[in-house]
Amino acid sequence: MTDRSDNVIPLRPYRSAPCPICAKAGIQEYRPFCSKRCADLDLHRWFNESYRVEASEQPDDEPPDDDGVA
Ligand SMILES: [Zn+2]
Repeated sequence: MTDRSDNVIPLRPYRSAPCPICAKAGIQEYRPFCSKRCADLDLHRWFNESYRVEASEQPDDEPPDDDGVA
């Protein structure tokens, strides 16, 4: 009876935001970039950055403060 497809939330109309790389209007396929080239460029940036901070990942297992008090 009720059409299930009514339940689907439509994608919001996307206003092209400026490409973060070259500030041209972005296109939906590569948003927020204007082209695959710019998307790739951004990806490369990320790679370079994570490459630099790769050593900063430390295990977070500090033991609880157990001084034997009480
Ligand atoms: Zn661009």
